Amino acid sequence: MNIIKYLQAQGLGSRKQCQNWVKGGWIEIDGEVVDDTKAEVSLDGRRVLKLDEDIIPTINLPYFYILLNKAPDTETSHKPQQYPSVFSMLPNNFRDIDIQAVGRLDADTTGAIILTNDGQFNHRVTSPKHHVPKIYRVGLKHAADQSFCDKLIKGVLLDDETETIAAAAAELVDEHTLLMTITQGKYHQVKRMIAAAGNRVETLHRDQFHQWRVDDFAVGEWRFLDIAEVQASV
Ligand code: URA
Repeated sequence: MNIIKYLQAQGLGSRKQCQNWVKGGWIEIDGEVVDDTKAEVSLDGRRVLKLDEDIIPTINLPYFYILLNKAPDTETSHKPQQYPSVFSMLPNNFRDIDIQAVGRLDADTTGAIILTNDGQFNHRVTSPKHHVPKIYRVGLKHAADQSFCDKLIKGVLLDDETETIAAAAAELVDEHTLLMTITQGKYHQVKRMIAAAGNRVETLHRDQFHQWRVDDFAVGEWRFLDIAEVQASV
């Protein structure tokens, strides 16, 4: 990716500031000054992005955060069994680094997913104690009415659980389409909750993860989150 975009994605300042650092010869990669603002850099994450130590501290292994609109028939795994990995939707230079998905989506589920090399962020936003909202658009096999939504909001008992689990919100868009918000992250949670309430999931798309939506993304499209967005998260 372009050096300026890269520096900006690290939260190192405005476009102008980053251009000034590059033009001023402050930026070194692998010991070599990169003073061309059009330079492409590898994001293999093991390269050290060195800024002049007198001016700005050296930054090792910079973090990055990617919001992806997951395609159907892709697996949230580095070792997929049946379909291509979600990581294969990123450019080649992301492939060898320790990048992980923040939570999992089933192979047939589409929509918003974050990929990052920041383990602490990953841990924070997936921790049950932070109640991060996830909004799913659920295609239902059988026509549903308000009483179905009420059931989900009241809570349903999943097979291997001892306590009921409730949706934070559930509303019908039409009788076969439900918008459901959950704040937990249990295995196959949406499909199991819908089954426990007496219906069946035909299609599943995550409209929103935390505050991040992918409404205007094409299938497989992604973007970097900027540092302000990450700082505004839990
Ligand atoms: N719940 C599910 O059942 N599947 C997903 O992919 C995500 C949430």
